[in-house]
Amino acid sequence: MPTRATSTPPAGARTPRTPRARAQRFPEVPEGTAPEPAGRGLKALREAAAACKRCDLWRPATQTVFGKGPARARIVVVGEQPGDREDLAGEPFIGPAGLLFRRALDELGIDADTLYLTNAVKHFKFEPRGKRRIHKQPTPAEQKACHLWLEREIATVKPEVVVCLGAIAAKAVFGAKFSLMKQHGRWQTLLDGRRAFATMHPSWVLRQPGDEERELAYRGFRDDLALLTAVDDAG
Ligand code: SF4
Repeated sequence: MPTRATSTPPAGARTPRTPRARAQRFPEVPEGTAPEPAGRGLKALREAAAACKRCDLWRPATQTVFGKGPARARIVVVGEQPGDREDLAGEPFIGPAGLLFRRALDELGIDADTLYLTNAVKHFKFEPRGKRRIHKQPTPAEQKACHLWLEREIATVKPEVVVCLGAIAAKAVFGAKFSLMKQHGRWQTLLDGRRAFATMHPSWVLRQPGDEERELAYRGFRDDLALLTAVDDAG
């Protein structure tokens, strides 16, 4: 996936919160490009991603929401894209779906702080509806453009295990032919030898129409995530 080298924001720079401020802050990054990280670690990756303009999603969003967690986490969890709250806070997995994910981990005795949490797409895509911003699915081209950052995060963290939440994340990791409905909750081996599995996105659980359906979906989601207890015990 080719990228063009451009300059990156200085270390410790905070991401400007409006498109106009961002354009003034990162004027040197041409449209359609991703900056090259200035170093090898996660910090350099995060700083470079903050100035990414590889697709158009950076324009209306507040900021790049990069991954968060220990630099040497044994488990990387990949969600789909940031939501409204994550976009405003600049942090992944803090909205309603993220909280449901954390609840499931808690019930399984897994410490969420030991995981590296990220998304397949790093900017929030939405449609304004009155005062609300309604989540919109990134196009395949936008997903492909952003794959660069996920690849780099996994190559930098070097986890033993990758967990995908939802179809966008699963296709980003396993490829377009992966069927979430048929293959969720089963270990797969990636080309680099890492183990990985996919499960539903917690927002799908939350979208179930009734209490009973939601509870059933939640139990299935948590049962899939229980595969992680074996990884946790092995540590
Ligand atoms: S969504 Fe990804 S590729 Fe597109 S601008 Fe944001 S960080 Fe860059």
